[in-house]
Amino acid sequence: MPKGNYQLPSFKDAKIRTREAVKIEHTLFKLPEPTKNLGVGRKFYLRTYGCQANERDSETIVGILTAMGFTQTDQEEDADFILLNTCAIRKNAEDKVLGELGMLKKLKTNNPDLLFGLCGCMAQEEEIVQLLLKKYPQVDLIFGTHNIHRLPELLYQTMMSKERTVEVYSKEGEVIENLPVKRFGQHKAWVNIMYGCDKFCTYCIVPYTRGKERSRLMDDILVEIQELKDQGYKEVTLLGQNVNAYGKDLGLEAGFAHLLDEVAKIGIPRVRFTTSHPWDFSNDMIDVIAKHDNIMPAIHLPVQSGNSDMLKIMGRRYTSEEYKALYDRIIAKIPNCTFSTDIIVGFPNETEEQFQDTLDMVDYCKYDLAYTFIYSAREGTPAAKMVDNVPMDVKSERLQRLNEKIGLYSNMNNQKYLNKEVKVLVDGLSKRNDQVFSGYSEENKLINFTGKNIHEGDIVRVKIVDVKSWSLNGEAIEE
Ligand code: SAM
Ligand code: SF4
Repeated sequence: MPKGNYQLPSFKDAKIRTREAVKIEHTLFKLPEPTKNLGVGRKFYLRTYGCQANERDSETIVGILTAMGFTQTDQEEDADFILLNTCAIRKNAEDKVLGELGMLKKLKTNNPDLLFGLCGCMAQEEEIVQLLLKKYPQVDLIFGTHNIHRLPELLYQTMMSKERTVEVYSKEGEVIENLPVKRFGQHKAWVNIMYGCDKFCTYCIVPYTRGKERSRLMDDILVEIQELKDQGYKEVTLLGQNVNAYGKDLGLEAGFAHLLDEVAKIGIPRVRFTTSHPWDFSNDMIDVIAKHDNIMPAIHLPVQSGNSDMLKIMGRRYTSEEYKALYDRIIAKIPNCTFSTDIIVGFPNETEEQFQDTLDMVDYCKYDLAYTFIYSAREGTPAAKMVDNVPMDVKSERLQRLNEKIGLYSNMNNQKYLNKEVKVLVDGLSKRNDQVFSGYSEENKLINFTGKNIHEGDIVRVKIVDVKSWSLNGEAIEE
């Protein structure tokens, strides 16, 4: 092993779940003395891959680096420290990062003092860390998802020793409150309500990379949201791998329904949440969403497959019939609700009939949006040991058929909005046209629209005049 400081991840340890209570740390964050001005006169570049959990972690990383005196740059060539916050959910996500590391290597030739760091879910993988140690000598610092708060010390150690530092905890640590944060949005904020996942769906690496389910205290969450409201934020999205499980580890009954109710009462204009697992989506939750106008009628409800046998092998804990019944219960109480989902095609040994059931599920739920993936084997998960008899061209062809169907329903659902009025939270000017504003409606539809005296963060009434498959065009209604 090359010279350096090493604490390497272990999947075996990451799998362990204990009943041990998780400590919640409330002490104020303080930079250790020698790390205080480490970043003064230095710049960092941060790239984030993957899901909202990583986005939110990156906000903490930027908060910590800024507290150390670093300034952020969006040019890799200007940086003294380049950090990649990575995703491990599918092999292609990892390949992207490895490719990027190859491209960035040449920057070290021009600037030998440049430091490279890699954090996030890939850092939690034994195999990947071994690969980085052997084949990517340009990476100076590796840390995981459980020790972001250690970044100042780890960076200091790497800089001073001029040796590689790898520190990855396989067991989750405490829930740490009060870490610095630099929010990326001025009007919309992510709020973690819990960390980790205990569902262990057989294909998924998240329970290993993010540790056991740990909820934040309700009071801490409510204080954070009140502060966001006071600062003028218009929307919060409550984050967790499975928000429905909120509070179970704290012994709370109906934890998420209660939390959602309390969050809505704070009166922030828009509340969203993601992701909710269909398995423990309670009737109480449906009632709370239906009761509050500021809980947005847009639910992300990952189905993964429409076939009950497949769902069983995936370890999803619901049948196709139970999913449909849940969908019916939600629609009955929240008729204007839109639905998005995640679907995996080509899970080992998926038959054409089983795939047909997934298409039938799409016909049943008429999703507004779906994130669709070809199954990717993740080392260390139970599904990775299954022998697969579905050729890749069949998987690709299924994905294409699925996407065509999803596109049809998205377009069909969007037609319903023609000549109707929606309320849009303005994100800013459209990426494609600087005469046009864009934002999202309450139903989570992307709206591009024209209007006068419009500002980022406004909530504007818009009349829809044209419909596309994945967005709607409109005109602001003058008040
Ligand atoms: N916790 C969320 C849930 O269960 O709905 C999902 C989190 S995961 C970051 C997002 C999506 O990635 C999953 O819903 C699943 O569709 C997909 N995914 C996870 N593991 C995968 C794998 N091995 N191959 C392909 N897609 C995968
Ligand atoms: Fe992965 Fe399943 Fe947990 Fe979602 S619920 S993060 S798919 S194990």
